[in-house]
Amino acid sequence: MVTGGARAVARCDALALPPFSDSAEGLTRTYLSPAYGATQEKLAEWMAEAGMTVRRDSAANLIGRYEGRVAHAPALVIGSHIDSVRNAGAYDGPLGIMLGIETVAALSSSGTQLPFAVEIYAFGDEEGSRFPAAMLTSRAVAGTLDPAALDVTDRDGVRLGDLVDLAAYPSAARAPGEVLAYLEAHIEQGPVLEAEGLALGTVTGIAAQLRFEIGLSGTAGHAGTTAMGLRRDAVAGMAEMVLAAEAVATAGPPDLVATVGVVEVPSGAANVIAGRSRFTLDVRAGDAGVRDRAADEVLRRFRDIAERRDLGLSVRQVHDLPASPCDPALMDLLEEATVAAGQRPFRLVSGAGHDAMIMAALCPTAMLFLRCRGGVSHNPAEYVEPADAEAALAVMSGFIKRLGAKLEPA
Ligand SMILES: [Zn+2]
Repeated sequence: MVTGGARAVARCDALALPPFSDSAEGLTRTYLSPAYGATQEKLAEWMAEAGMTVRRDSAANLIGRYEGRVAHAPALVIGSHIDSVRNAGAYDGPLGIMLGIETVAALSSSGTQLPFAVEIYAFGDEEGSRFPAAMLTSRAVAGTLDPAALDVTDRDGVRLGDLVDLAAYPSAARAPGEVLAYLEAHIEQGPVLEAEGLALGTVTGIAAQLRFEIGLSGTAGHAGTTAMGLRRDAVAGMAEMVLAAEAVATAGPPDLVATVGVVEVPSGAANVIAGRSRFTLDVRAGDAGVRDRAADEVLRRFRDIAERRDLGLSVRQVHDLPASPCDPALMDLLEEATVAAGQRPFRLVSGAGHDAMIMAALCPTAMLFLRCRGGVSHNPAEYVEPADAEAALAVMSGFIKRLGAKLEPA
């Protein structure tokens, strides 16, 4: 017999191919594309089979609802996203939805009714791979969407407003009383669980993030005739700064990370000492204080390096995302369910953003991470063991049982 975990994994695999991918080579499924529509149709079938009523909201989220013991009871929302990056793996996003569907399938086949409803949300544009925006659909549901954010156009010149009714879009919002809590199962997208030899981890929160654009100016010069001691080399200075950022993060706690992901040498040439360079700096940690102290230290070192090399330095902060802590009581329930499922409990911070951090504005949130091989994601090589998905299902079912018992003590 195929277990629910194996079926959840197999369904993600099935959705990684056309017509559920916009591309014949590898999985690409962007918000509101033909593949997005085909995927929603397939998911609607699976949700209905699992005993849910299915609807699509004005932000083009797909929602399945399994009623509780009384009609119109508030819902535990289990969700994740069905859109993907370009040339994606099969599990980043969809696995959380499939595990939600399997959780409901187990409830309905055993005739279990809860003091709350369970709703499965398949969110739309978590990755932001089509429009220059991200998490529009969960922001609409959480009621935190600024309507101005909907004025976006994709690279083919298609406006979001050509595809959906922008005036109706914010009506996807749920009232706080309708949603009890939000649970998201997601692949870790990092190597920590694998290194710990664990299938699962309880997420303590989503990391606080700072992003900067850094510019350096020196003096352009002839690569053959300018003696080393006379140079003001904007690339050499940038290289030293990249390593300084790495050193600061490496010396900190494990969830502190710093990344230079873009480096540019405007009008660079092989025979010219660079007069200008620019790069990005992204700093994250579970705790905003840790993040801020690290960013301060990195920028202090940048100033020292610039001064010693006689380079002009400009620093522009472009992003400040606060940390989104998960709910402590829900984390405890997840851990109790983890122990009951025979797994060692383990807590970790999410370095990546997820719909959960948006939903935190609406209700308490919890996240369960699943080990993925090599920590690889955003890559066709993404892989999850069906046995790990089965363990996640056991924990999600245990979590729901405990949440029910908490709301309706025997
Ligand atoms: Zn994701």
